[in-house]
Amino acid sequence: QAKRAGGNGYAFFTATLTRIARERARLEHELRRAIRDGELLLHYQPQVSLSDGALVGLEALVRWQHPQHGLLPPGRFIPIAESSGLTLTLGEWALHEACRQARHWLDAGIAIGRMHVNVAHAQIQRGALYDTTQRILAETGLEAHHLGLEITEGVVMEHDTEVIAELERLRAEGISLSVDDFGTGHSSLARLKELPVDLLKIDRSFVNELDTQGQDRDIIRAIIALGEALGQEILAEGIETRAQALLLRQLGCRLGQGYLFARPLAPEALPDWVVTRKGPA
Ligand code: C2E
Ligand code: MG
Ligand code: MG
Ligand code: MG
Repeated sequence: QAKRAGGNGYAFFTATLTRIARERARLEHELRRAIRDGELLLHYQPQVSLSDGALVGLEALVRWQHPQHGLLPPGRFIPIAESSGLTLTLGEWALHEACRQARHWLDAGIAIGRMHVNVAHAQIQRGALYDTTQRILAETGLEAHHLGLEITEGVVMEHDTEVIAELERLRAEGISLSVDDFGTGHSSLARLKELPVDLLKIDRSFVNELDTQGQDRDIIRAIIALGEALGQEILAEGIETRAQALLLRQLGCRLGQGYLFARPLAPEALPDWVVTRKGPA
């Protein structure tokens, strides 16, 4: 077919684009249906104190239980949601489900600490995050001090005074704000100082090679010093080995999260983990 079109690959290119567009439209349609039919679910990853292993909070991570493809990680469908205007629907669903689950666990006497929910760019841009959050807290009966929102560094950095005002209102209610994947974006220190943020989450990429790369150690040391200067807590994500946990603790990092402590857990598995968890790594 492409050859007949003159061998310049143009027809082939067009056919490929058409195929990609169709595939995308199909996935978008499927995702819409999945949200409606309740195929999305949240897994929960514990966040712990590095000194004694105590559970301090959970991070809610969305999954798609796809009828044909099995359990899909967010990397497979969040981009589709973002390019098809489903981000707000997905974001609201996740926030509601995480708050509902947190309320349920707290009522059952399971001390989960704070429930952290990832928030996408578009959710903040529209300026409706405060109202949505207030409504969901009221609907689920969760207290604001049990909720935290995780915002990626890029989002937090590029925005204007309106966004800062919105974040300040959320924080004034007692909701904790974290900067996710910290160190991968382009933070300006001046900007960081203005931000109403409680916690910096050191990106997994710096933790990965902590035991082998001296440079990463220096970066982490710098982030911890920065957090101290700005009065922000530091949490290291993606901790997989005891050596990493130990080094982070020695560097002065108080909080951590990663496969060493627990993978993201299905809600059915979480209570058992809380009851039987071990002490410091
Ligand atoms: P994130 O918020 O930075 O979440 C951490 C990711 O690292 C999760 O991947 C988690 O499973 C993974 N992880 C945790 N500990 C370890 C470890 O020790 N080693 C390794 N290799 N990985 C670890 P996941 O669940 O695939 O989520 C990927 C990203 O998708 C999240 O990154 C977040 O940006 C986004 N995401 C997840 N749920 C939501 C949601 O409800 N809303 C929005 N907007 N984004 C979400
Ligand atoms: Mg996160
Ligand atoms: Mg992260
Ligand atoms: Mg990350």
